[in-house]
Amino acid sequence: MKFCNKCVMPDTRPGIEFINGTCTACINYEKKKNIDWDKRWNELERLCEKFRGCNGDGYDCAIAVSGGKDSHFQIHVIKELLKMNPLLISVSNFSWTQTGLKNFTNISDSFGCDIISLSPNMKVFRIISRLALEKLGSPMWYVDAAIYAFPYKMAMQMGLNLLFYGENVNYEYGGSQKEEISSALKQFENDVVKPIDIDEWCVEGLTRKDLNAAVFPSYDEITSSGLEPVYLSYFVPWDTHHNYLVATKHGFSHMDHEWKREGTLEQYNQIDNPGYLINQWFKYPKFGHSSATEMASRWIRAGLITREESIRMVKKRDQILDQCILEDYLSLIGISKKEFWKIADRWYNTELFEKNRFGVWNEKFELE
Ligand SMILES: [Zn+2]
Repeated sequence: MKFCNKCVMPDTRPGIEFINGTCTACINYEKKKNIDWDKRWNELERLCEKFRGCNGDGYDCAIAVSGGKDSHFQIHVIKELLKMNPLLISVSNFSWTQTGLKNFTNISDSFGCDIISLSPNMKVFRIISRLALEKLGSPMWYVDAAIYAFPYKMAMQMGLNLLFYGENVNYEYGGSQKEEISSALKQFENDVVKPIDIDEWCVEGLTRKDLNAAVFPSYDEITSSGLEPVYLSYFVPWDTHHNYLVATKHGFSHMDHEWKREGTLEQYNQIDNPGYLINQWFKYPKFGHSSATEMASRWIRAGLITREESIRMVKKRDQILDQCILEDYLSLIGISKKEFWKIADRWYNTELFEKNRFGVWNEKFELE
């Protein structure tokens, strides 16, 4: 396992590449310093100009949101700076933190926006989550698939032609889609949601109809509807910490006063739902890194900490699965902690970890 010489990301992150010891996420971050952002802003203004007022007093566009810091940033840019009238489209959580719920209410209140939110099917979730845990090591597959599919489908049903997403995660943080493009038409292929033949999930009486929320529209359906899905990160510099600073000015709350998470570096990223973060943690047994590595790498690129400072922070945290995350997730799918760890054990990559006689996994790699 090799680590990037600029940040702390290892080469086990799916789809990431290293050039002369530096990961593509760091290389792309540096490239952004030479982008003419005024020119990109003008492109964004022209795009909005095309759609502003296209539905009379109705919505001009849609924004896919969760209610977090990035959603606050997006709405600020699109509604307040660009004077668009957006409809917010969201997939709800099975459980909420108080802070998450407060932030979700705030995007409607502070910016004055309507929200359409899908509450996914709990029965389907319970069955599919257990299966996805065992077969993919991605327990939140069903929720992620709905998060990706629903905004496209709803924007099309509402007859809207412009849909904003936040960042292109592969380009920003490393992954298989390496091109810097504005179109989010092929976002489904970014490997966040593993492609699965939906018929494989038709078990325990579930039919394709039950699973429909997790089915993506085809490219043809999207393009023939006239919908243009775009990443805002193409048009404005995208920076996690900067988005957080902007969000706080519009009423966003961090979670320090509610729940001190184990295993993460901060209290402002993905804070709306405890159980959802189980997915983040599964990167650790599979790839040897988790959310602390991800956030430390973003902070190093942004110049907030040095690589040296981050090493101890990451080593202490990445392996920890927060107890509240685990208990919240297990209460949703109804299995015991002992059963969970038996399944989780199967996902440890034996090239990266070694199990001792007492069942504890030790890292064979060392970040330095
Ligand atoms: Zn890097």
